[in-house]
Amino acid sequence: MVLNSENINPLLASKLNELPIFSKIDSEHVKPALEVILQKNRAALKQLLERTDNYTWENLVWPLEILEGELNDVWSIVSHLNAVKNTPAFNLAYQAALTQFSSYSTEIKHNEKLYKAFQSIANSAEYSTLTEPQKKIVENSLRNFKLFGINLSLEKRKQFKEKKILLAELESKFEQNILESAHAWFLHITDREKLNGLPVKALNAAHAEAKNRGKLGWVLRLDYPAYSAIMNYLEDREIRYEVYKAYITRASKNFPAGDQWDNGPLMIEILKVRHALAQLLGFSNFAEYELQTRMLKKTSEVKDFLFNLLDRSRKKGEEEIKALKQFAKEELSLEELKPWDLLFVSEKLLQKNHEIDEETLRSYFPVDAVLEGLFAISKRLFGLQIKEITDFDKWDEDVRLFEVFDNKENLRGKFYLDIFTRYEKHGGAWLSCCRQRMLLKDGKYQIPVAMVVANLSKPSTQGLALLTHQEVITIFHEFGHCLHSILTTVDYPSIAGGHGVEWDAIEFPSQLLENWCWEREGLDLISRHLKDHAPLPDELYGKLKALKHFHQGMSLVHQLEFALLDFRLHMEAETLETEADIQKILDNIRSTTALIPAAPFNRYQNSFTHMFSGGYSAGYYSYLWSEVMSFDAYRLFKKRKLVFDEVIAKRFLSSILETGGSKDFLDLFIEFRGRAPKIDALLEAFGLEN
Ligand SMILES: [Zn+2]
Repeated sequence: MVLNSENINPLLASKLNELPIFSKIDSEHVKPALEVILQKNRAALKQLLERTDNYTWENLVWPLEILEGELNDVWSIVSHLNAVKNTPAFNLAYQAALTQFSSYSTEIKHNEKLYKAFQSIANSAEYSTLTEPQKKIVENSLRNFKLFGINLSLEKRKQFKEKKILLAELESKFEQNILESAHAWFLHITDREKLNGLPVKALNAAHAEAKNRGKLGWVLRLDYPAYSAIMNYLEDREIRYEVYKAYITRASKNFPAGDQWDNGPLMIEILKVRHALAQLLGFSNFAEYELQTRMLKKTSEVKDFLFNLLDRSRKKGEEEIKALKQFAKEELSLEELKPWDLLFVSEKLLQKNHEIDEETLRSYFPVDAVLEGLFAISKRLFGLQIKEITDFDKWDEDVRLFEVFDNKENLRGKFYLDIFTRYEKHGGAWLSCCRQRMLLKDGKYQIPVAMVVANLSKPSTQGLALLTHQEVITIFHEFGHCLHSILTTVDYPSIAGGHGVEWDAIEFPSQLLENWCWEREGLDLISRHLKDHAPLPDELYGKLKALKHFHQGMSLVHQLEFALLDFRLHMEAETLETEADIQKILDNIRSTTALIPAAPFNRYQNSFTHMFSGGYSAGYYSYLWSEVMSFDAYRLFKKRKLVFDEVIAKRFLSSILETGGSKDFLDLFIEFRGRAPKIDALLEAFGLEN
């Protein structure tokens, strides 16, 4: 495509505070758009550096924040479309552009003239007159130059850049293999009896899928809602086994539909390249390198934290599994509890002990009621008014758009909501931003725009989407990230919002918000029965509360296995030669974390996106570390006996949600809580001994 004035690239077309024209963006726009903006940025940076040699905040740092902010906004749209509307053509364009983008990012951080300019600002008389956020940007930049190897020889810098580009490509390929392998597998069922136990909704979805493929009966697939319904409810053990086996071996040699998407060699390569990057910079391993920009500073701190939690949770996990095994034997005649029985038997135990059934619970959570309740909670806590916009351009029919106003009626931000699972969407739930808050030179602001993405079960044919309580939690969680991104009052994109904070603090606001899904006062606002519109009755509420602590020991031990695997692989990459070595480390961790023997074919590591492609490398522990902070913070609300305590909520807004990464996160936490986070909050919340 050739760019000219009549043929404006939709990726670059919108003016300040106009929304992107998603429906017009196609694979062919990616490369030219990126070329235009990279060329523009390179020229602008050259000019900034050449115009003067007396560098200041005004003539260098701020303009650079804007240039980089604009680029990231465009790039974010490209990555977003690759993740939510993944077609082979778009993915190809994305992969190619990724190389360009990654190459540019390193080039900026290897620009010696720019580095010297930042140093001169840090040493100038002006520096002491800068605001705290401005100083933080200069500090972060100097740190990042070093972490990208500015002090290395030219030859080593070249190696660093090549490795960075390679890494971006490998990570993207890792993700793509999972998506493609999942698409390649399905199970066709013609005998209705074999689907006994499956909720009507999942059954309808499987039937629709069969119809789509021109088949009779039902087709089971590996999207998360389908997988989870099968694991929890399907009576037929053989089919549970088959679905489990396919899901847990995606993108591996053991995958039943073929090994052409095997991530095995990629995992080794990714770990090796990351390790080499860290070593180039003089760090002993990649974990140590990553901790340079985290709240927890030493690898020993992270390991101690994880082992401490494991020590305290293991016993509870063992007790829970013992009771579960006994129940399986006595009530379901299952002599041996296999991994594909775990969720199914847990669900049965839950129904027996608490007489709670997800399907009944679900009828209290129509998606619109949940959203209305979530917005009402945001209003009571933070004084927000959230209004839906109906006339706007979207990338899919299901997408919705909202505007967020504060109590002074200022528009603070907007967010898209794309929460239902789709064939061409990456799995999981996440938040990204297509517009970051940014102060421009003319004094105008760019209003932040976030995108909340999830893979919840699709509405039934009647069009009413009923959510499971777990799905409600997912929405609250991602909305917490969303508030962190759009309520920011920081003017500069590199430290504005959630993405400006240390990676191991990023989950804090999102996890904090989840707490309101468990409170009576919160549930009164988010639950509304689909027929009589009644809120969740007391009896069901009592059962739901019991569910909160159900198998908490097991789930914590499970999370610890992920965190330990991720952290150890990044510390021990030097010793890895083949994927069998990864398996060895995993088996070793399992000797302390496995509560029942793992299936020998299990290769979940091959689809562990957080670790290999999702930015949580040597950082999966962040979920647990943020959980410490979120429970500690929530205790403050509880202590005042008011889950809607306005004083505390306001302090959370001003110290955490608005401040982004304008200070070290520990300082922000202390500002909010009055002291550093205490681990006992997590232990208390999980009912573990202190
Ligand atoms: Zn999160």
